[in-house]
Amino acid sequence: MAQPRILILGAPGAGKGTQSAKIADHFDVEHVTTGDALRSNKEMDISDLGLEYDTPGEYMDAGELVPDEVVNAIVDEALSQSDGFVLDGYPRNLEQAEELEGMTDLDVVLYLDVSEDELVHRLTGRRMDPETGDIYHLEYNPPEDAEVEDRLVQREDDAEDTVKERLRVYRENTEPVIEYYEEEGSLERVDGEQAPDEVWEDVKVTIEDAA
Ligand code: ADP
Ligand code: ADP
Repeated sequence: MAQPRILILGAPGAGKGTQSAKIADHFDVEHVTTGDALRSNKEMDISDLGLEYDTPGEYMDAGELVPDEVVNAIVDEALSQSDGFVLDGYPRNLEQAEELEGMTDLDVVLYLDVSEDELVHRLTGRRMDPETGDIYHLEYNPPEDAEVEDRLVQREDDAEDTVKERLRVYRENTEPVIEYYEEEGSLERVDGEQAPDEVWEDVKVTIEDAA
């Protein structure tokens, strides 16, 4: 199969970043992630939009969604430059889902299904390696190398209060997106609560079968 166009959906902490890295590697596609793109542009001046905050970072640190205008432009630009991709972190509301329809066709829509208690545990224990961007978990997936362990950082928005707000925003804005693809008949549900390797097996087979 050449260059599949894959969308991966799931709540914050469901394992989208973890699985997307494996997908990108195995299927030789680009990992397009709005979260990483926005984290690299946290201080960008968006005051001309005249909205609540003047930078993406202020929305992110509050656990709110960054305005559609900003995010749509990032995704449009990234997708126009790639053949195959795994898109992670977008769409997060129905307006973005409609926008995406005008940008590209999709071969597979995956949904990582994880319960809310488990999401909170995964997010508050998540740590990132600032040098490689690799994702770890204090309990589930600690680094083997002590040097890596020493330099791990926690994302500001993974603090418990912000996590609760992000999950609320997810329920309100993003769950309708899951229903939208479900009704369309394209949603491929994967049990995201299994161990990472087991999730990966299911993800891989689902992509191979669907694309
Ligand atoms: P998302 O991109 O959906 O927010 P991540 O891939 O960053 O999710 O995963 C969130 C946290 O949970 C990370 O600390 C990651 O190491 C951990 N994690 C990911 N998948 C699993 C899994 N299947 N089982 C246990 N922990 C996981
Ligand atoms: P997670 O997978 O853990 O939810 P992300 O890294 O995807 O986190 O996103 C972090 C933050 O970046 C979100 O809480 C939100 O503020 C912003 N963000 C990412 N993607 C979008 C999007 N599609 N629309 C609006 N805001 C977004």
